[in-house]
Amino acid sequence: MKTRARKAPRAASAPCGGGAGTGSAADFIPPRPSLTRLREAAAHCRGCDLWTCGRVVFGEGPRDATVMFVGEQPGDQEEQARKPFVGPAGGVLDRALAAAGVPRAETFVTNAVKHFKHEQRGKRRLHKTPNAGEVIACRWWLDAERAIVRPRVIVALGATAGLSVFGKPTPIGKFRQQAIQLPDQAQGVITYHPSYLLRLPDRAAKEEAFGKFVEDLKFAGKLAA
Ligand code: SF4
Repeated sequence: MKTRARKAPRAASAPCGGGAGTGSAADFIPPRPSLTRLREAAAHCRGCDLWTCGRVVFGEGPRDATVMFVGEQPGDQEEQARKPFVGPAGGVLDRALAAAGVPRAETFVTNAVKHFKHEQRGKRRLHKTPNAGEVIACRWWLDAERAIVRPRVIVALGATAGLSVFGKPTPIGKFRQQAIQLPDQAQGVITYHPSYLLRLPDRAAKEEAFGKFVEDLKFAGKLAA
């Protein structure tokens, strides 16, 4: 991998997505990476145009976690806390993990894209879905996390995470509850992103989707045991 001397990012006066990225996070991966070195280096990443979107939120969890969860990107609260899955979607993930008997503290939680892509509307920052180019540019960080943690099971939460983890579109309805062998030692699983459950219009639909989500997390937990 190519390396480049780190420069502290300038204060991002450009709007989110208005920075000119290099095209790949590979340019910023440090030599002999550890999770600590990766986290420090990612804070300076300009691998895609999202480097002006606030601060990087890197993955978090034990170095020897057997299960890794990969979401889409941090949200507003995650960017402020610089921690993944601490907002409303994180609350759903926490409840589902508890129902599935999978302790979150024993898992590694991260995102496919490390910056919060958003649109500023007054004081509000509205979520925007990262495009395939941004996912591919950022995938180097996820691959580096995978190489260090070496989880037995990687759970992609939603379609964007599926694209990053499996390298191609992986429809959730078709592939949930299946173990997909990945090129490294891990088995891949895909399920819903918890924010999808939050967007469902009525209580019955939410309860049904939550039940399926818990089933998928149990499936992943058993696969990792
Ligand atoms: S989204 Fe990923 S590749 Fe793009 S600037 Fe942020 S950390 Fe780098």
